[in-house]
Amino acid sequence: MRQTHLFTKTKKEAPADEVAKNAALLIKSGYVFKNMAGAYTFLPLGLKVIDKINSIIREEMDAIGGQEMHMPTLQDPSLWQSTDRWSDDNVDVWFKTELKAGGEVGLAWTHEEVITNLMRQYVSSYKDLPLFAYQIQTKFRNEMRAKSGIMRTREFWMKDLYSFCATQEQHDEFYEACAEAYMRIFNRIGIGKMTYRTFASGGAFTKFSHEFQTLAEAGEDVVYVNEAKNIAVNEEVLEEADLTELGVTREELTERKSIEVGNIFSLGTKFSEAIGLTYKDAEGIDMPVIMGSYGIGPARAMGTIVDLLSDEKGIVWPESVAPYKAHMIGLNGDDSEIRDYTDGIYSALQKRGVEVLYDDRVEARAGEKFADSDLLGMPYRVVVSRRSKENGKFEVVTRATGETRELTEEEMFADFTDS
Ligand code: ATP
Ligand code: MG
Repeated sequence: MRQTHLFTKTKKEAPADEVAKNAALLIKSGYVFKNMAGAYTFLPLGLKVIDKINSIIREEMDAIGGQEMHMPTLQDPSLWQSTDRWSDDNVDVWFKTELKAGGEVGLAWTHEEVITNLMRQYVSSYKDLPLFAYQIQTKFRNEMRAKSGIMRTREFWMKDLYSFCATQEQHDEFYEACAEAYMRIFNRIGIGKMTYRTFASGGAFTKFSHEFQTLAEAGEDVVYVNEAKNIAVNEEVLEEADLTELGVTREELTERKSIEVGNIFSLGTKFSEAIGLTYKDAEGIDMPVIMGSYGIGPARAMGTIVDLLSDEKGIVWPESVAPYKAHMIGLNGDDSEIRDYTDGIYSALQKRGVEVLYDDRVEARAGEKFADSDLLGMPYRVVVSRRSKENGKFEVVTRATGETRELTEEEMFADFTDS
């Protein structure tokens, strides 16, 4: 992508009304635009990051047997009445609206009811189970406070997977597989080291559920962590009896701020009983399906990456989610010979499949280009200048470490195309 082609521009200052660091940086660099509190546009660069995060999520969900689908946002009140989750007294995040044709609809804030109801068409025997279905879909929540930038918005993507099992063993096996897949996802997107599978209260069906909490000063949540024992619990699990069961004491735990990037929950038969999702077991007896739900917020994950990995100069994307692997800075572009040469290097990189953003601006000063490059945060910066044409060497700077290397064209190509 040529930078002169990109309609977004970097800004000198972060917007004054944006309190969250993640959004301030993402707005300044042109990844997102704030439409209003709790609603953001993901601009071309920002959408690329989300797409990469979503691809990693998809790979890991597919690998454990997940089947992707897409359910509607518009919700029929009667379905939610059957589980007592339509009333604003019970659910405080509903957006509801009137149909022109008469009657009310809701905007989905989760999809347990919807998927349980539709599975009645497809599940009849124990032979149909287990099955795992997921979507990456827009949720609406009338959040009271939207102050954490892209990490808590009123309209957001969620990956929500639902498991349907015949036996508790089937359920437990999948629950564990999903927990492991979540850790792989968080490792792959660069926040694994700071992310803890955290014990939370399990509701009516299991003792514990699990939140995936990333330690971060900007977090809205609080967790209690023991790094050596690799264990974390949330406030609900701070009771002595729970801690004893988990093999830690209160004194061993340190209070830390954190961001909930995902969670997994055993639902038991709560929804299947309320909505009538049953299967026939081997004896032909009707049994309620055992369910679980598993959520991740891709934009919250993106905000967490920005929050954790950025430095005083700007964003630092891990390679796995960076919109482009390399940011090529063309210098001396006022000389048409140098510009042609630089264009040639850009084409050669593209031909080899390297994702590259090319700063082909002629008027911008070198210092301005370097500052923009640091702000935008691609993993590698490649400088192509008059000197490169003369000596065949390119300065390659690794954004995360500042390591600077002088590589030949072939060395650079090899470096960018391996792994
Ligand atoms: P929180 O306690 O932070 O409100 P939650 O318990 O309501 O989160 P879930 O309903 O389990 O969250 O949603 C699954 C995932 O969706 C969360 O782990 C988070 O990553 C993401 N998520 C939830 N609410 C939002 C939001 N308002 N904006 C962006 N992402 C969100
Ligand atoms: Mg919430």
